Amino acid sequence: MPASRGGPAAAPFRGKWAHLNNPSRDLSRALAGRDFHGCASGAGALHLRGVERLLFALVAACLAVPSIAAVPPEAAPPPKSPRVVHVVAPGQTLFRIAQAYGVPLARLIEANRLKSPNAIAAGRRLVIPGAKAPVAVAARRPLTEAERGALERSLTEDRAPVDLPRGWAPPQPKGPGEFIWPLEGPMNSAFGPRGGRRHAGIDVGSPRAQQVVAAADGEVAFAQATRTGFGNVVVLEHEGGFSTVYAHLSLIVAREGESARQGQPIGGVGTTGNASGPHLHFEIRHRGVPLGPLRYLPQTLDDLVKDLVGPRR
Ligand SMILES: [Zn+2]
Repeated sequence: MPASRGGPAAAPFRGKWAHLNNPSRDLSRALAGRDFHGCASGAGALHLRGVERLLFALVAACLAVPSIAAVPPEAAPPPKSPRVVHVVAPGQTLFRIAQAYGVPLARLIEANRLKSPNAIAAGRRLVIPGAKAPVAVAARRPLTEAERGALERSLTEDRAPVDLPRGWAPPQPKGPGEFIWPLEGPMNSAFGPRGGRRHAGIDVGSPRAQQVVAAADGEVAFAQATRTGFGNVVVLEHEGGFSTVYAHLSLIVAREGESARQGQPIGGVGTTGNASGPHLHFEIRHRGVPLGPLRYLPQTLDDLVKDLVGPRR
């Protein structure tokens, strides 16, 4: 055997290491083999432990983050309340049904897709939006002959002042939109004292045959020609004891007993009765007492311009 270069020849092993020709190389091989198996199984075990750790970390993270782990299930929608259906009885008007349920007339018309507030008959089933249970609705009671006579006598242009009960005050307007102007035009005559008498309403000038509309939701209490100087007259009854009067009409399209929606045409401007030219005499009454209509009507363009110009100096 040639001597290894650069160093003395390795001393032969004796005893139990004697079978190894090159113990360090063989030991390395033996260890390498063992390590190979060991590393293979060891690496596998290490890998599995890693996956477990990863899964554990993910679960822990989920539990630790309230926004993920503690999100409550989506709240169930509240149970739908059953729709209230009102069956129209003879004599019931849409206005009275709306009043009884406290629903605006327009909403009732739209919910039931009615062509007009009078497109109902006894037996008709009406959906009442927002109602929780059916309520009793009084049938319309036409004016008695005595009431009709008293109403007709009150339909005159100028009246003596009414003796009002002590402490009486006109009711407060409910708010914008309670009444609207029945006609657009200049106010030719105001409410109040006029030549020692009392003008019980306002006169609104207008070309003939312009349409006059209901100032508020109501029911037609009176619609006929009179001999009192008012000519053709419509009287509407409204909620809370209010009524409105429309006089000197050229024609009447409203009919007694019908409901009238705010803004619905009830007749045309005319000169019937004592009228020097086409105009509408319009009154707002509360339990029969004429009130100053401007208190309840929305401001006109003239009013708004005055308000704008007024503060300037
Ligand atoms: Zn008048």
